[in-house]
Amino acid sequence: AVLGVEIDSVTITEAVDLLEKFIAERKPRLVATANAEMVMLAQEDAELSQILNSAALVVPDGAGVVWAAKYNGIPVRERVAGYDLVQALLARAAVKGYSIYFLGAAPGIADKAAQLSVRQYPGLRIAGVRNGYFSAEEVPGIIGDIKAKQADILLVALGVPKQEKWLKANLAQIGVPVAIGVGGSFDVMAGVVSRAPLWMQKTGLEWLYR
Ligand code: UDP
Repeated sequence: AVLGVEIDSVTITEAVDLLEKFIAERKPRLVATANAEMVMLAQEDAELSQILNSAALVVPDGAGVVWAAKYNGIPVRERVAGYDLVQALLARAAVKGYSIYFLGAAPGIADKAAQLSVRQYPGLRIAGVRNGYFSAEEVPGIIGDIKAKQADILLVALGVPKQEKWLKANLAQIGVPVAIGVGGSFDVMAGVVSRAPLWMQKTGLEWLYR
């Protein structure tokens, strides 16, 4: 564990293979991408800590987490950035026919991210799209929509730890087999926010760029 958070030692390919297994099993599962910020938040947030330690999969997202995991004897082989995991999953989904529901980010962003994904991964099935600014009264309608569309994968971009807590409260009812908190990924996918240069990603300095 890294500061009490259990991190799974998986590569991106292994993570995507596991997510496919979850889809086949149809049981709702929560997936988290743990960066240093999330691990630090979990130190003071018992609910977040409990959610992470009962998640089906927690990937090592971030150089700091990879380093700390290795330091703690967890044989982490590579960094699995949330954004990269989503891209690998969308590529696999387009081939296998899995449908994706995009929930989160400002109005228009999830739509754009979904549209650009279809262009990038031809054949990708979009189950539905909904922005991340809604009231408690609107939640039952959102849950109903995700259920009705029978999405295989739910990407939730509400930021940490809101997305994890929202999923903890609602995932059992939604029943989607793979639900992942993806933070600011839709903003990056929609081209609103850019990632750090590749050399910074590779040298583990992406956090510095942000
Ligand atoms: N967001 C949202 N609803 C909210 C609060 C935030 O949809 O009530 C979105 C926000 O528009 C952004 C994402 O959540 O797209 C959070 O991005 P950030 O980069 O802050 O993610 P984190 O660093 O928490 O992973």
